[in-house]
Amino acid sequence: MPQRIVLASNNAGKVREIGQLLAGHEIEVLPQSSFDIPEAEETGLTFVENAILKARNACAHSGLPAIADDSGLEVDALGGEPGIYSARYAGPDATDADNNALLMERLADVPDEQRTARFQCLMVYLRHEKDPTPILCQGTWEGRILRAPQGENGFGYDPVFFVPEKGCSAAELPAEVKNALSHRGQALRCLVERLAGYPPAP
Ligand code: IMP
Repeated sequence: MPQRIVLASNNAGKVREIGQLLAGHEIEVLPQSSFDIPEAEETGLTFVENAILKARNACAHSGLPAIADDSGLEVDALGGEPGIYSARYAGPDATDADNNALLMERLADVPDEQRTARFQCLMVYLRHEKDPTPILCQGTWEGRILRAPQGENGFGYDPVFFVPEKGCSAAELPAEVKNALSHRGQALRCLVERLAGYPPAP
């Protein structure tokens, strides 16, 4: 019997990638939309805190174990912004295009060699709402910020994130190549390994 786990995200891009990465494992991932789970308030100051808040919220409303991913883009020339505020960089209802436009504007005068950046992903697994020992896995993906968006794949900041080892933007990579390299892929592979043999909740 595959293990049933709720995925604590309403971000279609993330849900798609996590589904692809877990395909073939003995895990049935149910998006939190199938439980009508209200969005958790991300009041933490770190990716870890926010990931735990999201997973705990999904456990509380579903009665099932939950996986949550809190992720974002850190840009060195902006002192690590947008960081934990990546989804809402251009405001509470910002679209990916709004966020990318604001990033382009803020980096307009920054020369190429100073446009270094990275995606961070913190993946959390909670067995139940009060689980005192969550599994935590982190992934980091280094790159640079382009001067204009390129490519149609992926989501979020992918069109402006240059991947040095492939010589193109993250939005120009096929899904399986992005998953093999990305912060989310790294964190999820770590999580799957740690899940195998993890004891049931006390
Ligand atoms: P969260 O849902 O609060 O974790 O926000 C994550 C935000 O970070 C997303 O809405 C994107 O803006 C950005 N982000 C995270 N991972 C990626 C990625 O793989 N590609 C592009 N943008 C990402």
